[in-house]
Amino acid sequence: MNGRRKRVVGNWKMNGSLTANAALLDELLPQLAVLEGVELAVCPPFPYLAQVAALLEGSGVALGAQNLNVATKGAFTGEVGAEMLKELGCRYVLVGHSERRSLYGECDEVVAEKFAVALAAGLLPVLCVGETQAQRRQGQTEQVVSAQLQAVLRRSGVQGLAAGLIAYEPVWAIGTGETASPEQAQAVHRHIRVLLGEFDRERAEATAILYGGSVKADNAQALFAQPDIDGGLIGGASLEAAAFAAICQAASQQQERPQP
Ligand code: PEP
Repeated sequence: MNGRRKRVVGNWKMNGSLTANAALLDELLPQLAVLEGVELAVCPPFPYLAQVAALLEGSGVALGAQNLNVATKGAFTGEVGAEMLKELGCRYVLVGHSERRSLYGECDEVVAEKFAVALAAGLLPVLCVGETQAQRRQGQTEQVVSAQLQAVLRRSGVQGLAAGLIAYEPVWAIGTGETASPEQAQAVHRHIRVLLGEFDRERAEATAILYGGSVKADNAQALFAQPDIDGGLIGGASLEAAAFAAICQAASQQQERPQP
């Protein structure tokens, strides 16, 4: 038994409405309430954090945000700081999602700074890393993921990185319906843990490494059964109550499975 609890985090991206969020959680929360041994969270868009915080109250499902600014407050029009997220009840915050990196130009150093700021505020940052299809074809997967991790290691050290979570999300699998095979994902998760282990073996073993990229009800179990996959970061399927509940159930079942 590796001692790491499975976790499933839903990333709603820029989706939802007051009505749709209430309907989704109304259907979802009773299904999640019966699951044991798994830590669950959802990350709605900023305008819905307060609504979703209220709806999650007493459910055991945590609240997360999808981004934060490195500054705490001031003249940064359109941005949101870590303390604001805390005040609204967030426990998690996604950092360096591939859409932020590719569409909004977030480089490794900015992502590392966001990670550090989130940790300092008492949030649990989820550091997203992953390679593009072209990088994978060129055999650069480990190199790309290592560089993304090294930036955070330089800024926060291994104790900092291990205090948050990592999500391995191959860019080619996000929102495409194409999933890394359990073996492909496991190989990169192992690489990440070995890299952390070069700095601190105990912390490397304790670090939660989630997989993200077209996780669905029918592939979650095989992915979560891999020894270094500690759960999932779920995009599209987190917007469908039945699909997200099934994925969370797959994680819960893995947790209960007796380990060799
Ligand atoms: C994501 O946005 O982090 C993600 C994994 O999306 P999807 O599950 O839709 O591929």
